[in-house]
Amino acid sequence: YDGEFDAIVVGAGPAGSASALTMADAGLDVIMIERGAYPGAKNVFGGVLYTPTIRELTDIDDAPLERYVGEKRFGMLSPEDETAVSVKPNQWHQEPHNDSYTVLRGDFDEWFAEQAVEAGATLITETTVTDLIREDDGRIVGVDTDRPEGELRAPVVVLAEGGNSLVAEGADLKDPSPREDVAVAVKEVIEFPGDGNEIEDRFRLTEDSGASYHYFGEGAVGDAFGGAFIYTNDDTVSIGLAYRIEDAVTSQPKPEQTLNEFKSHPAVAPLVRGGRTVEYSAKTIPEGGADAMPDLVHDGAVLVGDTAGLVLNNGVHLEGTNMAVESGYHAGNAIITAMANDRTDANALLEYPRNLEDSFVVQNLERYEWLMETAVEDKDLLFRDLPRAIADASEEYFSIDRDPKAEHADDAKDRILQTIGGWSGAAKLAWRYRKVM
Ligand code: FAD
Repeated sequence: YDGEFDAIVVGAGPAGSASALTMADAGLDVIMIERGAYPGAKNVFGGVLYTPTIRELTDIDDAPLERYVGEKRFGMLSPEDETAVSVKPNQWHQEPHNDSYTVLRGDFDEWFAEQAVEAGATLITETTVTDLIREDDGRIVGVDTDRPEGELRAPVVVLAEGGNSLVAEGADLKDPSPREDVAVAVKEVIEFPGDGNEIEDRFRLTEDSGASYHYFGEGAVGDAFGGAFIYTNDDTVSIGLAYRIEDAVTSQPKPEQTLNEFKSHPAVAPLVRGGRTVEYSAKTIPEGGADAMPDLVHDGAVLVGDTAGLVLNNGVHLEGTNMAVESGYHAGNAIITAMANDRTDANALLEYPRNLEDSFVVQNLERYEWLMETAVEDKDLLFRDLPRAIADASEEYFSIDRDPKAEHADDAKDRILQTIGGWSGAAKLAWRYRKVM
């Protein structure tokens, strides 16, 4: 390579490929540098890919999507019981399927990077960016890599290296995340022997439809603050959990042990019975929200996706792919504008943070900022006492014996009210969480 590029993108995950595709489409000469043997080779996520922005950037008809999500299910797990809600709008079976698809990242990331390459971007793999190159005045003008004579220069560098942002942190473009802003996640892919209809039969699915199951409570992650998930792929399921790294360090058993306990919960075991683990991975998730976002633009560099902390993870939503792609798209467009004016200093790139703030990305992060803080304060009530009380109350309410139903209903109500501090406690709780709606 001659080292003469308009932009260097560090990392070919969803954020990096979206920015490269956006810039290449506009005729910029872009190079993506990926440390994996191919994009996605080592990438870990749950996962459901949310596609509204990807659909704007490219045709997703031939993307390696596993199943569309036709059902979202939320299960509250006490140590032995489950109380669940399932959401299955018929509309989700119609195109565009609520823009939610399960994918395997090894397949999807490779395909998405290929779209950028077809638009004219260059991709080099098995190359790790080790540092940024700066001019004396501090301007970033390129990257150093682990290749011999591996320096590359360009007026702007897009840092899309994911949540473990060693390059951005090493160059003082962001501070390491404090413990309370990081979750540790483990995930397995499980395969089943059988006739090929195993996933449909186990999860009561039809053809291409899939399901995303979300769990919280003691039965999911023990005493920790977090949740667990199961997603159906074509022929496998992805099962995993994530909780605050603080809990992993201080109290909890190891994440892999917590995952094993989750897999043997009476409500979960039948879903994975007889399966064989074909992949195991672990990763961290930034979850500091809008408050923890670093400066997104610097002289000669922008931060996108998980590097910028753009993940919504609050127990109801776990979305990072859509935010990564949206941020890559806005960063790419801002670079196109800045380059047209022959400038790449931080001020010239401000279109990126401005447009991101107007987009769903920052708005969603800000909307749910309070939820994490409030839920952490109420952890024992929400994750331990209430799931237990609701399971007990449901058992009581629906019990069949020779007592009148009114007695069961009263007992059920009392169990809940005792847990939440009576009717006044219920009113306080409803007020505290009113914004969830
Ligand atoms: P990444 O996907 O992390 O990509 C970064 C890329 O940069 C990688 O390809 C990496 O190899 C490369 N790289 C890193 N450092 C270097 C370097 N120095 N040099 C060269 N290359 C480098 N989001 C959802 O939308 N739905 C879900 O269901 C979901 N579930 C999740 C479950 C788990 C267990 C985890 C951990 C995350 C989950 N997320 C989910 C979040 C989602 O995975 C991320 O938000 C998303 O992948 C961020 O994309 P990115 O491009 O910013 O970073």
